Amino acid sequence: MARALTPVDVVTIGVGLTGSLAALELAKQGLKVVGLERGAARDTVPDFQSPAIHDELRFSIRKGMMQDNVKEAVTFRNSSDQTALPIRRWESFLPGTGLGGSFVHWNGQSFRAQVADFIYRTHILQRYGKKFLEACGPDLTIQDWGVTYDELEPYYDRFEYLCGVSGKSGNIKGQIQPGGNPFEAPRSREYPTPPMKEPYFGALFRNGAESLGYHPYPQPSSNLSECYTNPEGLKLQQCAFCGFCERYACEHFAKASPQTVILPALLNRSNYELRANCQVRRINLDSTRKKATGVTYVDAGGVEYEQPADLVLITAFPLNNVRVLLLSGIGKPYDPKTGEGAVGRNYTYQTTGGPTVFMDENVNINPFMASGANGTMIDDFGGDNFDHSQLGFIGGQYVGAIMTNGRPIEFHPTPPGTPAWGLEWKRAVARHYNHTIEDPAARHVGCEPAQLSGSRPDL
Ligand SMILES: Cc1cc2nc3c(=O)[nH]c(=O)nc-3n(C[C@H](O)[C@H](O)[C@H](O)COP(=O)(O)OP(=O)(O)OC[C@H]3O[C@@H](n4cnc5c(N)ncnc54)[C@H](O)[C@@H]3O)c2cc1C
Repeated sequence: MARALTPVDVVTIGVGLTGSLAALELAKQGLKVVGLERGAARDTVPDFQSPAIHDELRFSIRKGMMQDNVKEAVTFRNSSDQTALPIRRWESFLPGTGLGGSFVHWNGQSFRAQVADFIYRTHILQRYGKKFLEACGPDLTIQDWGVTYDELEPYYDRFEYLCGVSGKSGNIKGQIQPGGNPFEAPRSREYPTPPMKEPYFGALFRNGAESLGYHPYPQPSSNLSECYTNPEGLKLQQCAFCGFCERYACEHFAKASPQTVILPALLNRSNYELRANCQVRRINLDSTRKKATGVTYVDAGGVEYEQPADLVLITAFPLNNVRVLLLSGIGKPYDPKTGEGAVGRNYTYQTTGGPTVFMDENVNINPFMASGANGTMIDDFGGDNFDHSQLGFIGGQYVGAIMTNGRPIEFHPTPPGTPAWGLEWKRAVARHYNHTIEDPAARHVGCEPAQLSGSRPDL
């Protein structure tokens, strides 16, 4: 029998990015908020400090910051005819666990969606017509979002100023800005901090892209180019390009995360309570099964509690948001065979690809000195920025030179034909380590569920 607790106004299921952000807004309005986080409480000091945080085996290979597949297995199948099998080693999704969630080990690539992304179906119909859309086939399930870019713009702006995003705008209130991305949606003002320093491989890409008539721009980054104080009064430092960014927490206070830009302002509020090591099992419903009345959760000691709340926010990362809904019997599960049901529908994942570019020995790249988001890119082939009428597909992707690290266990590119071990392999590694450009996406199968409609499989 679950122990009943005193009702509160709001409970969040998970305290990662959305759980901490929404809690701060609601607590500022005077509501009593409880954050239930399944993982441990953690902070930049002492939990993210070096040398322990620079442990490639623990964090990159063994996915030390991610949901533990042994404790909470996720099963996977490619089609509903297959038997779903447990994922034993994360390659996709990489859901975080612990206070701050995935926003602790994210890269910091800080894009906005484009205007057309929000009205994708309408946009495609208007530009190419119904026949074109039908010819793309029945698997194309695009919809409009129900919210427009213009409605969201003030919130994008607020979020970027919260995180201190470093970048160069390409479009302020409809005026194209030199040096920025001319394809981006209009923003109300410049980024809060200037772009990060461009690495040599980025400069090479910029020169090549410009000479071909494309429009290179610096990747917007939440690894900061300079010190910054956000509107909550929280200070961020300049990125040190330490090479341990994506899949790692930042030891330098230089990457926007709940720990750096939200939690210090939230945790000292008397009307907010964090309960770590508390796993939510389900959302409880009233007799109509249309209204949430609270949640049932289990703490680290295995004791089950019922926390009543007027508002239940599902802030557990998209994969786990769907899981919580399914476990609570809320909504109709998506059936891929009939196309019916909304829970889990269109759940998707980013796919990126990249070539490995082997350079001459006089071109020194220094792959180690990098951050999670200091690329140079073009959007000429992103979204619907080019004519698809003769192509038989929709969507696109940025093209860029983005190297997020050159860490020793994962990064040792060698050209095709090199032996996989032994002296020749060692010689090839030594020859190419400093002279190769490789997008880590070519090594990892991406990072997280894509948040957009297929037009920008970013990050
Ligand atoms: C490796 C990686 C790289 C990324 N890089 C980028 C990037 O460069 N740019 C970008 O825009 N986005 C990036 N993302 C995505 C970004 O991190 C997420 O979009 C964002 O963190 C989602 O916020 P969230 O609150 O939904 O989930 P999270 O921040 O993951 O927070 C969810 C929290 O809920 C907790 N939780 C889950 N289930 C329960 C439960 N049952 N009970 C209690 N607590 C629970 C989890 O432990 C976690 O702390 C990346 C993600 C990953 C994994």
